Amino acid sequence: MSDTTKYVLDEERLPSTWYNIAADLPKPLSPVIHPGTGQPIGPDDLAPLFPMALIAQEVSSDRDIEIPEPVRQVYRMWRPTPLIRARNLEKALDTPAKIYYKYEGVSPAGSHKPNTAVPQAFYNKDAGINKLTTETGAGQWGSALAFACAHFGIDLDVFMVKVSFEQKPYRRALMETYGARCVASPSSETNAGKTILAENPNSPGSLGIAISEAVEVAATNDDTKYSLGSVLNHVLTHQTVLGKEAVEQMEMTGNWPDILIGCTGGGSNFSGLVNPFLGKQLNGGPKIRVIAVEPAACPSLTKGKYAYDFGDTGHLTPLVKMHTLGSTFVPPPFHAGGLRYHGMAPLVSHLQDLGLIESRAYHQTECFAAGVQFARAEGIVPAPEANHAIKAVVDEALVCKEAGAGRTILFNLSGHGHFDMQAYTDYFAGKLTDQSYAEEELAMALAGLPAIAAE
Ligand SMILES: *Cc1c(COP(=O)(O)O)cnc(C)c1O
Repeated sequence: MSDTTKYVLDEERLPSTWYNIAADLPKPLSPVIHPGTGQPIGPDDLAPLFPMALIAQEVSSDRDIEIPEPVRQVYRMWRPTPLIRARNLEKALDTPAKIYYKYEGVSPAGSHKPNTAVPQAFYNKDAGINKLTTETGAGQWGSALAFACAHFGIDLDVFMVKVSFEQKPYRRALMETYGARCVASPSSETNAGKTILAENPNSPGSLGIAISEAVEVAATNDDTKYSLGSVLNHVLTHQTVLGKEAVEQMEMTGNWPDILIGCTGGGSNFSGLVNPFLGKQLNGGPKIRVIAVEPAACPSLTKGKYAYDFGDTGHLTPLVKMHTLGSTFVPPPFHAGGLRYHGMAPLVSHLQDLGLIESRAYHQTECFAAGVQFARAEGIVPAPEANHAIKAVVDEALVCKEAGAGRTILFNLSGHGHFDMQAYTDYFAGKLTDQSYAEEELAMALAGLPAIAAE
């Protein structure tokens, strides 16, 4: 075999469809429930928030969903993205494992998030919408949607979790450069924000609170819709553009992955990579071990309850069945801001329930150690979120070394860390500590789960 390191697809191999795993699930997803009626919601219930094209994708069971040509045109600015063999990391670990990564940091915003930001902006514009709201934690999603809205000529208000607003001025500057307005959340612009501020004027904010604010603005303004960067089925489907490319690229390498690894915040970059491979497995292809990696300080898949819950703290969203820490759970501050959501995508939760994937959690300092090792070997400085995936890759490669087994590992390097260098500085200064959530707070948040006859 050749010693090729980088596998690049020609522009004409850019996928023309997204893959919707709902078509191949052995058991369908549980329905989304209206909190008032306790009944499954219909498309009209979501119409104030999303354009019909996205609602249709949310409930679709079509296997292949066409990527509109205007979306493909924007994708071509950075797609197809490279798949790279991490030969130097393999050497550094002295492992017989073959390690490959799909690199999504080459997008304008520096992560996988534009893969869904662009189609979401497109479908809204196509439906005549000129204004969107959203939330952002560390600012990755806000900057991806700001880029997409700039392209399609849509105004964007971003509610940014207050601690990040204060700690990450460069992500905010990036959103403003693309023309978005960025508001620290909780804010006094919404009832949801005012309620939180009345209880705690110094609230650091959370994704759950910021979602409430963004949803409230969209629900109460006819000309405004809402956009979410992860968790929902259509978001995960959009991300499969990266996994479909990776399937082709793995075919080019002559190796099929034995192990797939991705970090999970809401589950979108993970699903984007693994769903197309799982689709092959569900249709008779080889069985793959799939590992979702989450932060120990916000462990929805490994410690959460699989139950119906609200997507936001203010309880404005419908109820979805997911692994959840409770909608009022506020994780302790740690640096992978993109992994601080109280729930996990219903689709990822369902895959775990079906035994198709496994999950594990790591603390942040061990993840940074793995990320630094990766940067020194491969040259790319990973986003703190992606360091979680890398930690699992390193551990699995070392298992291979002990077993003398040359397994093939593929992971998603979901973004670069160029806007997160303060986190690296803190790590080198020994200021990063492993955060644990308060058990009482988790118990309280779980006790507050809505009473719904599950299933
Ligand atoms: C937002 C983000 C994540 C986590 O979100 P998912 O929806 O779980 O993918 C992971 N990596 C990076 C680089 C991010 O920006």
